[in-house]
Amino acid sequence: MTLVGGSAYNRLVVATSGVFVEINVAQVLKAPIGSTRNYEVSGVVNITASDVGSTAHGGVRLMRTDRGILVKGMLNTEAEVSCGRCLSLFRYPLVLNIEEEYFPTIDVVSGTSVSVLDEPGSFTIDEHHMLDLTEAIRQYALLAIPMKPLCLKDCAGLCPTCGRNLNLQSCGCSSEQVDPRWAALTELANERKGTG
Ligand SMILES: [Zn+2]
Ligand SMILES: [Zn+2]
Repeated sequence: MTLVGGSAYNRLVVATSGVFVEINVAQVLKAPIGSTRNYEVSGVVNITASDVGSTAHGGVRLMRTDRGILVKGMLNTEAEVSCGRCLSLFRYPLVLNIEEEYFPTIDVVSGTSVSVLDEPGSFTIDEHHMLDLTEAIRQYALLAIPMKPLCLKDCAGLCPTCGRNLNLQSCGCSSEQVDPRWAALTELANERKGTG
């Protein structure tokens, strides 16, 4: 991720793949407390372990605080999730409202190292004054994914008897609602009856 231009509204170039959403914040760190700068961000973030990479894009406002830089903004991304009913994988769109304070590890003027706040999980700005949004995006995205995402609003789910994905194909099983926990027993009973 490369930063282009030094105007009030900086634009980040979208890099191809495996990149981070990084902003060089040396200028913001040198600015007086309360100063703000807007950035457009775009980059690829791996949200889940199996994720091939999701593009995250949006805008953030950086504000110089007494301790570091407060990042506020809205980003759009998506994550690969498994449907809560039919278990198929699909890409779920996410809107992330990010608000995090980042703390410098190096004094931007003197170049000496700054003792980082001893707050577990706090975000830091690296020794090259790069503020990396990747981890924040990943964490916010994981929190934004619902417990039971649905691939379709009325996803038909899996047949509790034969396990077929009913969105793709109907099956000949009894249409009465069977609790999936009983499905194995039903199968067993059918086998005994010789109908399974
Ligand atoms: Zn589904
Ligand atoms: Zn079935």
